[in-house]
Amino acid sequence: MTLKTGIFIIVLAVAFGGIIYNSRRLLDFLRVGKWTDRFDNIPERLRRTFVIAIGQSKIMRDPVAGPIHVFIFWGFLVLVFAVIESIGEGLFGRFSLSFLGGAYSVITVSQDIFIALVLIGVIGAFWRRLVTKVKRLQSSDEHEKKDAQLILYTISVIVIALLFTNSTRIATGGIYPNEVRPIASWLGSFMCPCNKTLAWYEGFWWVHIVAVLGFMNYLPYSKHLHVITSIPNVYLSDLKRKNYLKPINFEDETLTQYGAKDIEDLSWKQLLDGDTCTHCGRCTSVCPANITGKVLDPRYIIIATQQRMLDKAPYLIAEGAFGFSSWEDAIAGKSEVRGPKSEVENQKRTVTGTLLGVSPRLTLEEVNSKNFIGDYIPQEMLWQCTTCQACMTECPVMIEHVDEIVDLRRNLVMMDASFPPELQSAFSSMENNYSPWAFSPSERADWSHGMGIETMAEYQLTVDSKQLTVKEDMILFWVGCAGSFDARAKKITQAFAELMQIAKINFKILGTEEKCTGDPARRMGNEYLAQTLIKDNIETLNKYNIKKIVTTCPHCFNAIKNEWGDFGGNYDVVHHTDFVAELLAKGDLVITNDLHERVTYHDSCYLGRSNGIYDAPRASLEAIPGLEIVEMERSKSKGLCCGAGGGQMWMEEKEGKRINIERTEEALATDAKTIASACPYCMTMMTDGVKAKHEADNVRVRDIAELVLEAVK
Ligand code: SF4
Ligand code: SF4
Repeated sequence: MTLKTGIFIIVLAVAFGGIIYNSRRLLDFLRVGKWTDRFDNIPERLRRTFVIAIGQSKIMRDPVAGPIHVFIFWGFLVLVFAVIESIGEGLFGRFSLSFLGGAYSVITVSQDIFIALVLIGVIGAFWRRLVTKVKRLQSSDEHEKKDAQLILYTISVIVIALLFTNSTRIATGGIYPNEVRPIASWLGSFMCPCNKTLAWYEGFWWVHIVAVLGFMNYLPYSKHLHVITSIPNVYLSDLKRKNYLKPINFEDETLTQYGAKDIEDLSWKQLLDGDTCTHCGRCTSVCPANITGKVLDPRYIIIATQQRMLDKAPYLIAEGAFGFSSWEDAIAGKSEVRGPKSEVENQKRTVTGTLLGVSPRLTLEEVNSKNFIGDYIPQEMLWQCTTCQACMTECPVMIEHVDEIVDLRRNLVMMDASFPPELQSAFSSMENNYSPWAFSPSERADWSHGMGIETMAEYQLTVDSKQLTVKEDMILFWVGCAGSFDARAKKITQAFAELMQIAKINFKILGTEEKCTGDPARRMGNEYLAQTLIKDNIETLNKYNIKKIVTTCPHCFNAIKNEWGDFGGNYDVVHHTDFVAELLAKGDLVITNDLHERVTYHDSCYLGRSNGIYDAPRASLEAIPGLEIVEMERSKSKGLCCGAGGGQMWMEEKEGKRINIERTEEALATDAKTIASACPYCMTMMTDGVKAKHEADNVRVRDIAELVLEAVK
């Protein structure tokens, strides 16, 4: 064994010892969270990982930062082969992967190219941080700034050292079969094939491999831990549609908390989100609350979760207070119980816990004296979220901000009765009137008076008395609370009902039997109330054997489509924009009038980002001759929220600029004389915005159904 090999084996053993220790520490920290199964549907998870993590599809949503990151990320993937060769050389002397034949040529030429691209990416990243000072990348934390720079320097050292390792080796005649390195060969052509160059080769080789191994061990203590965790985090992300909340099982008697009070009430995946956050700030840069000057900062929430985990997890581990007994058992579906399996396990974990707590950031007293909600995450932040999903849409590593925000809200509402006072009347009204609007449930179908619309109860009576069978084509029009009680939204309801009558659709309504879908209560954290309403509604729908539903409200649509299945309510639900577009396409609705106007369409978050419906509303507008359609600066998946979702409709917007004003200004900037929308909440917010901007005489806000009705009538 050469001296080089001997020293390298020691370096490698220390480095791998560190990697194993850190991995174990990371996995144990995560295990203080609750079990959630993210190991199902492997093909879909692999597909998602390939597209989002390897393909960097979300990163590329930013046309400047995207390519910079892609250069560095793909560069690192290609350079993994160089690390294998370096380790091989340390263990066995000169070593290469040239036995791969032609593939080796591809690998080596790619490495050369990616070394250059990584360096361009690093320079770009430095430029954006230090020269153009991109807002979302700025941090007031000096440690974080230094950490980011240290990582960029280390990446530069790794790739430059690799380039010179290759060029000095090639210069001294050490080129391998099938090796193609144009840049390294070109550099090597300036070097002498002498012992001095060989000595430089050894130096560069050591710098490269020590920097790589040091980098791997530094990462777990850096915000760049995402280099290790981001691919797994994407693989383990929630496969449900984005706007889906996991229900609480109120029958589970082992539950000691509803929602999350502290890190041990979050899932291990939510804790992994904290470890994965790249601190890139994409989420915060699109958050409507943050944009309008409120304290809500989704990035901060995720980072604060990791900070609390780092502070508290060592003590929980020392107590053996794990959320599930072992990764192996939990993945195998054998165990979901909190705490260790046996005394022996307990003993083992106490030792591990003590080790992990070698240098705790805070003493146990300090940890216990702090509250997760309040000291780490200000309560105010939690109540400013509109659940618009913009943060989750932008996050390149699939972090699930909204789920955590709602989990924390759930705890505040159901365990502490702590919520903005104005929500009390909405909760009481949902309990008593089955609607957040304080109207009598008996008035729910008043909008339909004189329209000849039958309720399901009336229809069922006819069916029963005449011994008929329910027609196959019958569809239930789910009106929703806004569409039933809000004066402006009622006009949308009537317009859509009229369109269905024109198209001769066989539809009924539930009338006074309909109740709130539970969406506002759920998003406001009142899961118990939400589930009561959901179950009542499902019972009614199932009583009538309802199969197909159409609704004008994206919030009702999202709840019924994505969430009611958890409670036994499975229906084919359509949003009215899809429905109308189809009627137009089939010729069941015929346009007879031109509308000569400039119109801009405001995307509803619950329709667009949450359910991918962007084209149908636009298709209906395009079908109307004379309409000139202009897009706002932020549209489709990048559209800005109107400010009403997540219960904000019933909360006061106390801080910063009003979100609806920000959005209305953007709409007005297009010079459109009509703002089109497809949601009763958006309708309220945009109408108020237009009034506040004193533009009500010049600009009108209309639902897609209303515009189509104007063109059809
Ligand atoms: S869901 Fe919307 S409002 Fe809530 S944190 Fe994310 S971006 Fe901000
Ligand atoms: S949560 Fe996602 S988008 Fe936000 S800073 Fe972290 S990685 Fe970036």
